[in-house]
Amino acid sequence: MVSSKFAQYLVRNEYFDLETMQKAEKKMEQYGGNSASALARVLEIEFGAAHDTVYEALSIHYAFPTFKKSIEEIPDVQLEACKQVLDSMRRDSDEDFKRKLLFHKILPFGVHKSNRDLLRVLATDPTNKVIQEITTRTQFRRLEIYWAPQKTIEDIIARVAPQKNEFLQLLEEAGQIVNEAVTQEVEVLDEQALDEEINKSLLVNLFEGCLIEAVRRDASDVHIIPFGKDAVDIFFRIDGKLQLWLRQENTAPEALTAVVKDRSNGVDRFERDTAQDGFAQRVVDDHLIRYRISILPIVSQEYERRFESVVIRVIDDRKVITDFRKLGFQEQAEKEFLKSINTSKGIVIVTGPTGSGKSTTLMAALHHVIHPGVNVLTCEDPVEYVIRGARQLKIGHKMSFEQAIRSILRHDPDIVMVGEIRDKITAETAVKLANTGHLTFSTLHTNDAPSAISRMYKMGIETFLLAYSINIIIAQRLVRKLCVHCRRPLSKEHWEAAMQLGLSREELEAGKIFEPVGCPKCHNGYKGRINVAEALYFYPEIRQEIVKSTNDIDEERIRKIAEKHGMLSMRDSGVERMREGLTDLTEVLFVTSED
Ligand SMILES: [Zn+2]
Repeated sequence: MVSSKFAQYLVRNEYFDLETMQKAEKKMEQYGGNSASALARVLEIEFGAAHDTVYEALSIHYAFPTFKKSIEEIPDVQLEACKQVLDSMRRDSDEDFKRKLLFHKILPFGVHKSNRDLLRVLATDPTNKVIQEITTRTQFRRLEIYWAPQKTIEDIIARVAPQKNEFLQLLEEAGQIVNEAVTQEVEVLDEQALDEEINKSLLVNLFEGCLIEAVRRDASDVHIIPFGKDAVDIFFRIDGKLQLWLRQENTAPEALTAVVKDRSNGVDRFERDTAQDGFAQRVVDDHLIRYRISILPIVSQEYERRFESVVIRVIDDRKVITDFRKLGFQEQAEKEFLKSINTSKGIVIVTGPTGSGKSTTLMAALHHVIHPGVNVLTCEDPVEYVIRGARQLKIGHKMSFEQAIRSILRHDPDIVMVGEIRDKITAETAVKLANTGHLTFSTLHTNDAPSAISRMYKMGIETFLLAYSINIIIAQRLVRKLCVHCRRPLSKEHWEAAMQLGLSREELEAGKIFEPVGCPKCHNGYKGRINVAEALYFYPEIRQEIVKSTNDIDEERIRKIAEKHGMLSMRDSGVERMREGLTDLTEVLFVTSED
C-alpha cells in the first residue's frame, strides 16, 4: 500500500501503478518531506511524469478550480486586466517580487469585480508557498487560486509582460553611435581599429540577440547567409517556413561568422574550408536552451574571400510533447497507434521527409511507454533531446552508429529507439529486436506508409519477417494551422480545386472550409502546425498479403486493404483537417503533391 491520500488517489485513478508509487514515496524525503507537492515533484523529476498531468491531479485532489484555456481562447479584456494588476504590483510593491512570481509561474490574473481585496491567481502548482506571499506583499488580502497548464501561463506572461531583449537594445544604441561617428567624421588616430572594435561588439550583440529572439519567436532554425559582399541575411524558420528576420548591412559576412565561431563550442575559428558542427547553450527567459550549429563553406563571386553558411538548430526542451494525445492524431490513427505501442514487442515506424515532425511523434510515443520498470535504450546520431528515464547511447569518434546498433542487443533492453532505419544492418537489428520480444521505434524516409514496406524489403529483409515484426507504419506531414482570428470561407475561384480533393459543393456553400488572411496575431494567416497522417496498422490480412509477395511488394493492394479497414490516405487526412477548419487547400496540396 501507499501511505498518503494523494498517492492513493493517483493509484486509484490509474495515473501510476502501485509499484511506481511505492518507489516514489521512498524518494520523497529528498524532496522536502511527505507533502503532496513533494510527491508531485518526485514524480515529475525522478519518474519523468508530465508536469501538467501531475499538478492537475494534485489540484483536483485539493479541490482547486482549474483554468484550462489556451491563449487564443482568452478574451483581450481579460489579458488587459491581468496586465493592469501586474503593472499595479510593480508600482505598489516592487519589481523583484513581480519577477519572483513570474519565475514561479504564478500569475496574478485579475481583481474580483465586487471585492477589490480578492485577487484571482493562476499557477502551475497551486500549493506553491510563494503564492501566499502575495497577501503580505501587496494590498490583496484574499486569493482565489486556479491551476492552469504551464503553456497557458507562459503564453500569457509572454503577452502581458514580455521580457526585453537587451542585446538588441544595445545593438540599436550601438547602431546610432556608429552612424554619428561616421557623420561627424572626427579624426581618430587608429580609426580602423576603433571601427573594428565597435563592429565586433555590434556583431556580438547581433548574434546573442538573434539566439534569444529565435527562441521567443518559436523558430526551429536560424540561417545566417552572406548577401553580397557586405551584408548578411538572418532567416528564422517558423512553422516550417524560412522568413527573413533581419538584413545586416555594412557588415562583412566573414566578420559575423567569426563571431558565431568565437561564441560557440567545438568549432575551430580559423578553419574555413570544411564542414564544422558546434554547439552552444544559453539561458533564455529562465530556460536552458541548446543550439546545434552547422557551418559549411560556400562559393562566393569574389575569389579571394571565403564565405560560410551558418545554420543553427534551436533545441528547446519545452517543445517536447510528452503527452501522446497532444499530438492530435485523427481518431482512427490515434487508436491504432496506441494499440501498437501499448504492447511489449514489434516495430513502430514513423516515416516522412525531413521536417515532417517524425521525431516529435516518436518522442511522445516513447514518453508514453517509459516507466521506471523498463530499460529504454536510444541510438540516434545526433541526440537531440535528453529523455528522462532513457539511456541514450553516445555516438562519436570512439563509437560509430553501426557499433552502437550492434551492441544494443547485448545491453538487455526492453524498449529501443533507433533514430533511423538507414541500411540493412539497422533494418535487421530492428527486426531481430522485434522478434525477440522488444518494442522498437524507428523512422524511415519514404513518402507514404506502404512504400516503407518496399524500402525495407529492398534492403534485404524477408517478407515473412517484415510481415510479422512490424506493428504499424505512420506516414506523416505537418500542415500549417489557420489562424482562427482571421481565416475566412474559401473564395469561389478555388472551389473547383477543393471539389477535386473530395469536398462537396454543400460543404463549400456552408462556409465551413476556410482560407488564410493574415492579422497581427499570426504569420500570413497561419499559426502553429498540425499533422496529417496515414496510419497503416498491420491487420492479419495485411500480414498475409506481404507474405504472399514474391518479387515485389504490391503497395497498391496493401493500401486498398488498409483503406478498407478505415485508414485515411495522407490526402484524405488533409481533407479531414480542412473540414475541421484547421488548415486550407494550399497547405494540403503542398504536402501531398508528391503522392
Ligand atoms: Zn490571423
